[in-house]
Amino acid sequence: MIYKRSSALFAQAENVIPGGVNSPVRAFKAVGGTPIFVKEAKGAYLYDEDGNKLIDYINSWGPMILGHAFEPVVNAVIEKAKKGTSFGMPTEIETQIAELAVSMVPNIDKIRFVNSGTEACMSAIRLARGFTGKDKIIKFAGCYHGHSDSFLIQAGSGAVTFGAPNSPGVTSGTAKDTLLATYNDIESVKELIAANPNEIACIIIEPVAGNMGCIPPKNGFLQALRTLCDAHNVLLIFDEVMTGFRLAKGGAQELYNIHADIVCFGKVIGGGLPVGAFAARNEIMNHLAPLGPVYQAGTLSGNPLAMAAGLAMLETLNNDPSIFTRLAEKTEYLHKGFTKVLNDNNITHTINRVGSMISIHFEDNAVIDFKTSAKGNNETFKKFFHGMLNEGIYIAPSAFETWFITDALSYADLDETIAAVNKVAATL
Ligand SMILES: *Cc1c(COP(=O)(O)O)cnc(C)c1O
Repeated sequence: MIYKRSSALFAQAENVIPGGVNSPVRAFKAVGGTPIFVKEAKGAYLYDEDGNKLIDYINSWGPMILGHAFEPVVNAVIEKAKKGTSFGMPTEIETQIAELAVSMVPNIDKIRFVNSGTEACMSAIRLARGFTGKDKIIKFAGCYHGHSDSFLIQAGSGAVTFGAPNSPGVTSGTAKDTLLATYNDIESVKELIAANPNEIACIIIEPVAGNMGCIPPKNGFLQALRTLCDAHNVLLIFDEVMTGFRLAKGGAQELYNIHADIVCFGKVIGGGLPVGAFAARNEIMNHLAPLGPVYQAGTLSGNPLAMAAGLAMLETLNNDPSIFTRLAEKTEYLHKGFTKVLNDNNITHTINRVGSMISIHFEDNAVIDFKTSAKGNNETFKKFFHGMLNEGIYIAPSAFETWFITDALSYADLDETIAAVNKVAATL
């Protein structure tokens, strides 16, 4: 494949943008080579600046669950844009999307819209601290909750890829209030709670981890967290920025039938525009300004274009819940196909999958937490990534990412992908 124009555009970008990108993982540092500059996308396909066509398994890291340039979303944005793009005043569409989100997601009465998943998680822990009057939070190694200071402690994804889990610039004062537990290990949580009596405001977790590859919660793990939180007056925060409106209409809360106290959203909820949100019962949400003392705000929050895109997306998902079954079936089809061709080629691997999230780890032991995920063979992953790219299949340029399956993928696309894995596996 030719990347001539992408290479030139990247060199030009590097002069004026740090590393040539506005989010680090895009720079391909973990896999080497030149990032691909996209020109346009439609449905399941990306078209890059050199004229290559790629089957996309990143899908903007999740939002494009119905495929790129999905018409109802595009049309909603165009129609809204004609009427003004921002007012900083209330608009009816904010209530419409809020009502729909509250009706789709279990156990929430009110929702506040922000501009990214980072903002959603950052605001959620402030609210939890304000509500409980306690300072410390528990997060899990390898879980990513955006790039705000409190969370850059063994975060997954890009933060792991770059080997700087504790970013310079995060003060030790902030870091000491973030306690680290091990995913799928309830004892590690119990120990932290016991060692910090009456100090923990909340536990924040990706109910299905997606930023250290895809890692499902072990049977009973989320329920055990719920029980522990209830016993110790700790709020349970589900960061559903990735899983929300993806694993089910009501996200992981619905899939596992566990109620969280605060839920964070991003990605799908914005239909591809910059949107995040956090939601909870009245009792908790009423602590937010202007009703309560916990401050949180945003000049562009609830932006009409973003709300129009999000509303069109959620309406589609709400009106056709069979989308989630279809997505899970396509993902299962890939899983079976990958397993067969990787076994045929004697490639050591583990595949994890929940709904429309799937990841291949080049490691034969079970991948259940950050440590086991980090064991995967990164040299094999690099070769695999570039091999797939060469076959016209675009997967995340990091071993710590999940693949995102979209409704736009046809079974012919899936077969092409499995055939590519077979061909690439033979070279590993
Ligand atoms: C992507 C992601 C975030 C951060 O969202 P941004 O919109 O990138 O700020 C937070 N939590 C999880 C689980 C995510 O996957």
